[in-house]
Amino acid sequence: MPHFICTACGTQHAAAEKPPAQCDICEEERQYVPPRGQTWTTLEALQKAHTNAFREYEPGVLGIGAQPAFAIGQRALLLRTPGGNVLWDCIATLDAATLTLIKGLGGIQAIAISHPHFYTTMVEWSRAFDDAPIHLHAADRAWVKRPDKAVHHWDGETLKLWDGVTLIRCGGHFPGGTVLHWAGGANGRGLVCSGDILSVTTDRKWLSFMRSYPNFIPLSAREVERIAVAMAPFSFETLYGHYFDRVIPVDAKQVLEKSVARYLANIDGTARKDGE
Ligand SMILES: [Zn+2]
Ligand SMILES: [Zn+2]
Repeated sequence: MPHFICTACGTQHAAAEKPPAQCDICEEERQYVPPRGQTWTTLEALQKAHTNAFREYEPGVLGIGAQPAFAIGQRALLLRTPGGNVLWDCIATLDAATLTLIKGLGGIQAIAISHPHFYTTMVEWSRAFDDAPIHLHAADRAWVKRPDKAVHHWDGETLKLWDGVTLIRCGGHFPGGTVLHWAGGANGRGLVCSGDILSVTTDRKWLSFMRSYPNFIPLSAREVERIAVAMAPFSFETLYGHYFDRVIPVDAKQVLEKSVARYLANIDGTARKDGE
């Protein structure tokens, strides 16, 4: 039986003879059903219509994204850390070239994903790489549409994958919203992979924080303050967002701090006088 994939969000669902009547991820207020209505595809069909493109940002950090873009259009990252390779976030398109390339780089030892919009075909990736464990925050357990024994739900505020690689629960966009900190990245100055939990803005000078990006639902001051508290213990120079071009290469920790302050000033009305 096929595992149908939603063309709007890229989520692969459990095996079924027919596509699901709806995609729960897209029906919910953080996503949307396109004007054309709900449509479905399969991994086999995607392999005929898309290829993956690669971009090396720095030694050990490789971006992977579909060309042409598919669904939400995020790119994943392969982090080649001394303790093993991590697939950070996930994309629906997994093809033969990607398999060959990543196997040549030592495979994948762990998969970690920021939030349900990027779960996509995570089980296919795990199966392709020796059943690599998939680490998801337990608070978002209800959004796993293709349950599998490879999925490990973690609880609490941080999970150390191995030395120098830590998952941090920020919440916000989703209650289990997670970012990854690699202390050895950015030449030992530290890097953060944030998905859109800490979202790099279009000008790439700031971060912002939303419950829904497509539907413009902001987070409360309390939720954004919680993000700042979660990130405070970690030092980092570089931050990778969720699209190929969304990167803050230097001073990313300071950018986070000033972005939290800007957000809070806008939310409570103290950022500008009326008419400015
Ligand atoms: Zn969907
Ligand atoms: Zn999202």
